[in-house]
Amino acid sequence: CGIVGYIGNEQAADILLKGLKKLEYRGYDSAGIALVGNEGIDLYKEQGRIAVLEEAVGTEAPGTIGIGHTRWATHGPPSRLNAHPHQSTSERFTIVHNGVIENYNELKKEFLQDVKLISDTDTEVIVQIVEHFVNEGLSTEDAFRRTLSVLEGSYATALIDNDDSDVIYVGKNKSPLLIGVGNGVNVIASDAMAMLHVTKEFMEIMDGEIVVLTQNNVKVKTLDGHPVSRDTFTTDIDE
Ligand code: GLU
Repeated sequence: CGIVGYIGNEQAADILLKGLKKLEYRGYDSAGIALVGNEGIDLYKEQGRIAVLEEAVGTEAPGTIGIGHTRWATHGPPSRLNAHPHQSTSERFTIVHNGVIENYNELKKEFLQDVKLISDTDTEVIVQIVEHFVNEGLSTEDAFRRTLSVLEGSYATALIDNDDSDVIYVGKNKSPLLIGVGNGVNVIASDAMAMLHVTKEFMEIMDGEIVVLTQNNVKVKTLDGHPVSRDTFTTDIDE
């Protein structure tokens, strides 16, 4: 299980699928990607091998921004419905998540009494709470930080807002996560291995930090919004 993300100039689908294959060793039962396509977010997800997903995506899927996931089910059986990415009710927000949200039942009761959940996953609660806070008037970044601050458990997560889709919001707590930095391209990966075909320069993200990622910028912040400065390192692992 793991996550990947891409924001750059090239078509993202192939790059994300290649990344997911590199994460296969972590184990998975289903996989999916979301691309910022020509008319909003295009979702592809399948139970089973990455090859099955690859077939569903095809060779023409447009989009230079996207996120991807290999799932090892913890909440809800392996199925297409429970495969990531997951979306909020309005489909404005799309998320991938590696980890376990331990207080998801409490969160449902506290924030999502009026929301009909589509999947059986703990992950869907994250994306629905982001939408809940945005509906209450918060900006997407504020809603994302506030959401992460009420989660208990582990997560490496990436969120796309269809109303402002040049940004990927990333969060981490107790699950592995790196940001890969290139020239006019930034990527997300649970393991550097997954993105060596894009860059060898990476940035470590600490528990309780978020990243606001655009094509040319990596902004690291604490959950309460304070900017963090972080150096990159160059890995010598070979692809
Ligand atoms: N807990 C989430 C789920 O069951 C994510 C599992 C994972 O890390 O792949 O869907």
